[in-house]
Amino acid sequence: MQTCPICHATSKHFNNLSNKQTLFIPEPNSLQYGLSPLHAWIRIFECVLHIAYRTNIKVWQVRSEEHKALFAQRKKEIQSIFWEKLGLIVDKPKPGGFGSTNDGNTARRAFANPNRLAELLELDCSLLCNLKTILVALSCHLPIDPVYDPVIRFDKLCTSTAKIYVDQYSWFPMPLTLHKILMHGADIISMSILPVGMLGEEGSEARNKNYKNYRQFHSRKHNREANLSDIFNRAMDTSDPIISTVSLHSRLNKRKVLQMSPELRDLLAIPDANVDTEMAPKPTVTSSSNAEMEMEIDDISGILEIFQQRLDAEVLSDNNSAEELEN
Ligand SMILES: [Zn+2]
Repeated sequence: MQTCPICHATSKHFNNLSNKQTLFIPEPNSLQYGLSPLHAWIRIFECVLHIAYRTNIKVWQVRSEEHKALFAQRKKEIQSIFWEKLGLIVDKPKPGGFGSTNDGNTARRAFANPNRLAELLELDCSLLCNLKTILVALSCHLPIDPVYDPVIRFDKLCTSTAKIYVDQYSWFPMPLTLHKILMHGADIISMSILPVGMLGEEGSEARNKNYKNYRQFHSRKHNREANLSDIFNRAMDTSDPIISTVSLHSRLNKRKVLQMSPELRDLLAIPDANVDTEMAPKPTVTSSSNAEMEMEIDDISGILEIFQQRLDAEVLSDNNSAEELEN
């Protein structure tokens, strides 16, 4: 049974939303570890798949022979739908034992059009649309407003998504990742000094391919310890902020720019807008003319600058307190 690392509730309680004020209370210091946006895509995509496999039987544990046959048939149907309609191979082991085909790219491509995904899997459309908005917001490098605005904000979206989930699929216990995001997401965001998307796993995951190259071409091979320390030292050198900026432009050029949905924009916050006089008004969604696009890019860099300043201030206060301790 899965246990939430934040509130210590177990998966049998996750679908009972009345626990939010009683059982789902975060333990002290449990919110500081953030979220893992990249793995959230994979876990939530798998949750959607597993619900879709069970829509004929509507039970979580597939035990009877009849249910097993129906489950296997539906799974096969869904895998062929994914391959024929979306060109995706889902839930199959990768040749050579490199895990499953359900990776971040598969999940992102499947969620690219949540309405179509819902239609193909015969699942609730609003649930999949909300999940996509939440996942994109968490992966986004822009700050999310967790609770401050009373109108439409992250916490409200999470609560309404959890309600849809429980109304439609109460027979399938919410996976831990979904519980963590829907029940504790807003608290984690408000505890984080940087947008959670900035602290995602993409950077460290992207290094995996480098390690193979370093191991083969840039390390001593005569013993394991020397081999690993060479890889480690090279990884430290190449990730140095100054060295890393050498290839920054080519990395930025490779980055794919996607359009924001209106729902996503509603979730974004402009920090200290009333304090900072340089901040432009919130970007609007009605038009996408060039002039407006340029203004939006300026807004975004302004927001990022404010976060950089906050981070600098945080580092400075840490340094000061360390010096005080020394004295
Ligand atoms: Zn929890």
